[in-house]
Amino acid sequence: MKLRAPAKINLFLHVTGRRPDGYHTLFTLMAPVGLYDEISMDVDQGSIRVQCEDPRVPADHSNLACRAASCFMQHYGRLPGALPQRGVNISIQKQIPVAAGLGGGSSDAASVLLGLNRHFDEPFEQDDLMRMGLQIGADVPFFVYGRPAIATGIGEILEPYSHSLPYFVLIVFPGIRISTAAVYKNLDLGLTNCEKKLRKLLLGQQAFDATHHACNDLESYTVAMFPEIAGAKQALMDIGASSALMSGSGSSVFGLFENLDKARNARDTLSRHKETWSVVLTELIGDTDDGNQR
Ligand code: ATP
Repeated sequence: MKLRAPAKINLFLHVTGRRPDGYHTLFTLMAPVGLYDEISMDVDQGSIRVQCEDPRVPADHSNLACRAASCFMQHYGRLPGALPQRGVNISIQKQIPVAAGLGGGSSDAASVLLGLNRHFDEPFEQDDLMRMGLQIGADVPFFVYGRPAIATGIGEILEPYSHSLPYFVLIVFPGIRISTAAVYKNLDLGLTNCEKKLRKLLLGQQAFDATHHACNDLESYTVAMFPEIAGAKQALMDIGASSALMSGSGSSVFGLFENLDKARNARDTLSRHKETWSVVLTELIGDTDDGNQR
């Protein structure tokens, strides 16, 4: 079976607090975008195993796709009349930069859950798969959900975001790999500043507007540590983006454009001038459409 696992961006990300168990609570608008990892998967009589040519991606059971397959098989094996446990052979072709704030590992995991559920004739509901996903990572339920959503809790409480998001998205990966854990560890909640900007959205009174609401509380630390991130944001603004923001815990930055020609021009210029950056022009994936790279 062939699966496509999309990346995501956070159009805003406000850290609302820290739970006693150390997890941070969020208020974030997440949307899948048309940049995909490609996964081939076969169910067979062997064990659960994974291959990936990217050396940054683990090829053992710590791979999130492998963990998702194990989790699914355990739950499936408990169903009445289930066939004996089977193996899963997973092969991942990474297109989503690794450790870049684009959620690639979580998306691979969600695609494996969805793919296996289809393979076994849908024994589980979407909610069941989201619960399984949460055992693997806080972003996995979002990728099972698969459309723009406001996430709260640690990212697992999802509400559909039904307003339109009429933007072309230019993603710039500046080549820096950032550990999400390190970003949260160094976060000073006293220095975060998104609450003010997002107040009306928090109260549900406004739809997202790129010029007013693009804000990420996690930038305070990463921008100070890695000036290249601030440089990428500035370059996107200078070239005509309505807003430019780091996604998740970084280091990817994206620009939102209302006009496709402007976005294409920005892509061509930035790819020419900055050879160390990977630049991808894509779209947000909505409920019914299927974004593609442009
Ligand atoms: P996070 O979800 O932690 O914010 P991210 O989106 O910044 O992550 P990912 O590309 O998901 O980054 O990778 C985070 C780490 O997860 C990597 O350093 C990698 O070792 C590990 N990992 C495990 N499985 C995968 C996978 N299938 N694809 C990518 N990375 C994986």
